[in-house]
Amino acid sequence: MTDTVSRAIAAAVAEFEAENDNWAPAVAAVEELAPDDRVLLICHVNPDGDALGSMLGFGLGLRQLGVRNLQATFPGEFEVPAPFAAMPGLDLLVPAHEAHADPDLVVVFDVAAESRMGALADRLERATTSVVLDHHATNTGFGDVRLVNPRAAATSVVVEELLDQLDVELDADIAECLYIALATDTGSFRFDMTTPQVHEMAARLIETGIRPGEISRRIFDSRPFEAMKLFADVLSRAEMEPEAAGGHGMVWTYATLEDLDRHAQRPYVLDALIDPVRCVAEVDVSVVIKQVAPTEWAVSLRSKGAVDVSAVAIALHGGGHRLAAGFTGYGTPAEVIATVRQELSKHLVS
Ligand code: 5GP
Ligand code: MN
Repeated sequence: MTDTVSRAIAAAVAEFEAENDNWAPAVAAVEELAPDDRVLLICHVNPDGDALGSMLGFGLGLRQLGVRNLQATFPGEFEVPAPFAAMPGLDLLVPAHEAHADPDLVVVFDVAAESRMGALADRLERATTSVVLDHHATNTGFGDVRLVNPRAAATSVVVEELLDQLDVELDADIAECLYIALATDTGSFRFDMTTPQVHEMAARLIETGIRPGEISRRIFDSRPFEAMKLFADVLSRAEMEPEAAGGHGMVWTYATLEDLDRHAQRPYVLDALIDPVRCVAEVDVSVVIKQVAPTEWAVSLRSKGAVDVSAVAIALHGGGHRLAAGFTGYGTPAEVIATVRQELSKHLVS
């Protein structure tokens, strides 16, 4: 790991330990709410399972506590990906333009940087109090009360702890949201962050009666036929560069808006595309470059351990975790991958 990044992560961990004092103000921020106070929950743009699951699970907990004036939202296009269409708590969602302008309390989930809140970032200033729940070591340090634990496998780990401190009863709906979040960020309990504590949390969630097999099929193992054909097109143009990343190797591909159009698919279906790519045995690093506008691309980076891709992403104005990160790239796919190629060799884990 590069020195700068290991220092940054060490500092983040130390900060979380110092901030364990923040459980009390976070609990107080909720307990001091009057029944009609406006509460706004926000997660990151293009929400994934951890972002939506953490936010809606917490929202259902607040509802159980009697909070009435409650909204959940996210920036960008107001579209819930089809795999999440049956998630409990979706009725809390409102489009960003309908979100309380001056909330009494704002709670933010899985957001590594204010830029990931788009136009909703102003609520951090406008709200009387803001509470930030996250687990990114690269979190940039915004918000009044910060519960940012870089050792947590998912933001939902932080959420479960806060709900417990608020004496919320873990019911099956809350558990399903938190389970989807936990399973998403641990790659269905396969990644390094899958600690005994993660399995203990999963056990508490499953004990509420939720059905992991059915949930996994719905969230991870279900996609339209045309999405599969789209994956086939995009995977067939993948390129492998064994010399990249100081000889650890890289595999990369890209998907255009035209690819999406041709198969009549929504952009979120491409979120799952990194999974087959990162399985390539010969290389350490995998990259998927997804077009979001003519010269703008959402880039997903994964490493098996030889490269700190969060450092690569930070150098390119993004963020994430050591083995899973992302950023916004500009130009052509060839230009975007050139910037990645250049950064990879600077962030080898020693
Ligand atoms: P994914 O590749 O699944 O979209 O994202 C992997 C990780 O990188 C997630 O933790 C996500 O929050 C983070 N990430 C992805 N894109 C960006 C970005 O543009 N900026 C920041 N700060 N983090 C990102
Ligand atoms: Mn997360």
